[in-house]
Amino acid sequence: MDKGLSLPEIVNYCKEYGFIFQSSEVYDGVQAIYDYGHYGSLLKQNVKSEWLKEMVQKHNNIVNIDSSIIMHPMIWKASGHVDNFDDLMIDNKDSKKRYRVDVFFEQLLAEGKISKELFDKCNELVNNNSLEDIYDLFVENNIKCPVSGTCNWTPVRHFNLMFNFRDIDDNTMYLRPETAQGIYVNFLNIQRSTHQKIPFGIAQIGKAFRNEIIARQFTFRMREFEQMEMQFFIKPGEDERVKYYEYWKEQRMNWYVNVLNIPREKLRFKPHDKLAHYAKAAVDIEYEFPFGFKEIEGIHCRGDYDLSNHERYCKKNLHILDPETNESFIPNVIETSCGCDRIILMLLSEFVTNESSDDKQRLVFRINNDLAPIKYAILPLMKKQELTTVARDIYDKMKLKYMCSYDDSGSIGKRYVRNDIIGTPYCVTVDYQTLEDSTVTIRHRDTMEQKRVNVENL
Ligand code: ATP
Repeated sequence: MDKGLSLPEIVNYCKEYGFIFQSSEVYDGVQAIYDYGHYGSLLKQNVKSEWLKEMVQKHNNIVNIDSSIIMHPMIWKASGHVDNFDDLMIDNKDSKKRYRVDVFFEQLLAEGKISKELFDKCNELVNNNSLEDIYDLFVENNIKCPVSGTCNWTPVRHFNLMFNFRDIDDNTMYLRPETAQGIYVNFLNIQRSTHQKIPFGIAQIGKAFRNEIIARQFTFRMREFEQMEMQFFIKPGEDERVKYYEYWKEQRMNWYVNVLNIPREKLRFKPHDKLAHYAKAAVDIEYEFPFGFKEIEGIHCRGDYDLSNHERYCKKNLHILDPETNESFIPNVIETSCGCDRIILMLLSEFVTNESSDDKQRLVFRINNDLAPIKYAILPLMKKQELTTVARDIYDKMKLKYMCSYDDSGSIGKRYVRNDIIGTPYCVTVDYQTLEDSTVTIRHRDTMEQKRVNVENL
């Protein structure tokens, strides 16, 4: 029987096998910040390449950019992030622990500590921004802090999620909480320099930072994370909006199913109950993690909210001219925005498998070949010079084309196990027959079948 791992098992797997580590671990770590090890960073690189291929390489009307993390602070005023990008928080006065109200209630519901009615009531109050009523809800229902066990709460407050700092001239600056704004403020430069006509898109992969209040569920909610976003600029109008919104919803779902091989039944669309300050319509793509269905990507109709606001704040013309109609307008935007780290967590949840059949058991990462961190492991059967020389020679040739590894330590069985665990699709073994007829065995990770092939045909 095959079984995926629980979240604590995934955390252990990531550390043990070099995928993800707690950042600054030797100093006891920093909450919700993580580092990717050798295999994790290669896996991440492959996910980013697949996304770029899907969005930019396959669309002649989508171009790529790499904008800066620190931008003019006025950008975040214009985008609404300074005033509106916040969560509701509450502190327990005894434990000094801070909770994000909606996530705290979600956790209480999952643990069976509150009813669905109370959960829904809380959500309604959060959506209506009724701070005092939320506080009353805590007190009237005797909601206790899990750490102190008391009901001694502060009033509910807004907490802005942007990290800020002061530059040398004492200006307040921000670490970007999304990559999208770097696209909007560059939109005309890019459109002109690449001669794009509406409809067209701009894609970007990059780091984003959010001072998340509740940081848990491993890399699902991080303070420093990577986004893969694409802003698609279209003509204003309801017909265009619906057409491209539906198009991108379908495209993005297909990518998870057809390219990342996630089973369709483990994914779902979830319309937003509450729209973000910029959105006209929004839906999430959710994946069924070991801790339930959760968002991996948002598809948002942002209208002309961002570009109009930038036009107002920067006092420059951000209209685009349609050469056919001679019309000038501010484009509307459909955004697809996914978190690379959540995709990695999804891939680990889906494809790291404990296989057991009869008396055998093995741990295997059944990731597809294009995403696998290492494609080929080149292994001499034993650490004997006549075998290692040939194996090294094969490795030196293959590494020019593929991410390969060479390993001659320990028994061949242990080396197969190690490669199954990190998801290497093929192990190439050099044995004594190789010296006679230039053939090697190729062992396939999923079937464990071995075939003999000529070295020339590798
Ligand atoms: P959530 O509701 O889970 O906080 P969000 O709706 O605020 O997410 P968006 O602003 O739509 O998220 O960001 C787009 C994508 O960026 C999300 O779908 C997610 O994959 C990723 N993302 C957002 N916040 C984080 C985070 N703190 N850690 C990791 N990935 C994140």
